[in-house]
Amino acid sequence: MKNLIKIKLAFPVLFLAVFMFSCDDGKLNVFTVDEDIQLGREVTEEIFANPQEYPILSEAEYPEAYQHIRRIRDQVLNSGAQSGQLRYKDRFDWDVYIIDKDVLNAFALPGGNTFYYTGLIKYLEDEASFAGVMAHEFAHSDRRHSTNRMTKIYGYQVVLSMLLGNNPSLAATIAADLALGLQALAFSRDDEYEADEYAVKYLYPSTLDARGVAYFFEQMELEEGADWMVYFSTHPHPSDRIEKIYEHHQGLGGKEGERYAARYQQFKNSLP
Ligand SMILES: [Zn+2]
Repeated sequence: MKNLIKIKLAFPVLFLAVFMFSCDDGKLNVFTVDEDIQLGREVTEEIFANPQEYPILSEAEYPEAYQHIRRIRDQVLNSGAQSGQLRYKDRFDWDVYIIDKDVLNAFALPGGNTFYYTGLIKYLEDEASFAGVMAHEFAHSDRRHSTNRMTKIYGYQVVLSMLLGNNPSLAATIAADLALGLQALAFSRDDEYEADEYAVKYLYPSTLDARGVAYFFEQMELEEGADWMVYFSTHPHPSDRIEKIYEHHQGLGGKEGERYAARYQQFKNSLP
């Protein structure tokens, strides 16, 4: 009896799965773009439901901090759209959140929502560096790295749980994985290189210096210690990433940009 149910279930699942596959730059993805957005919203809810792990900075108490981060967000989105490289500017949510924790990291969800730890914001020295990290995270969402990767990791199980309406449990699993250091969702090296490359492309039309991610790595390379290691538990070592970022920037014409250290200091001052 159990087997019969399995067979009956398996057929429509496989049938639907074929139609749900979308080809994302040659990468197989069982999620549609709308499902990326839906999943991102559900994981965002899970994150808000777990303030011990994710103490989201209160916007009511720190409105200025959110004004700064949204100003930078809009700058990255507009510049990305102008570059013609950011595909989902008008479709994804692109909500930005600050997590009040001394952690040197940031992360992106499917559908465009991104989270930045106060530890990272305070560590960086100028707006170009922060915008670089933000553009890198935006690239993970816009290039759909999470759901490409989940297609690889979970495969048909994801499709099955989605068809059975178990999305919240998937969102909870992802939120828990994030708390464990993104283990299940750790991006591949190729994803990281691609996110670095697109960060430069998105930022290039803006007045900002487009090499911000490289400046972040350079700053970390000058130091050694635990902070450094946290970031690289979820991101590849910067050894040749800096060089590649400079190459992409040269390839676009090598235009110098602003780093906006004074303006960024105001953002840092607005944090607790
Ligand atoms: Zn990354």
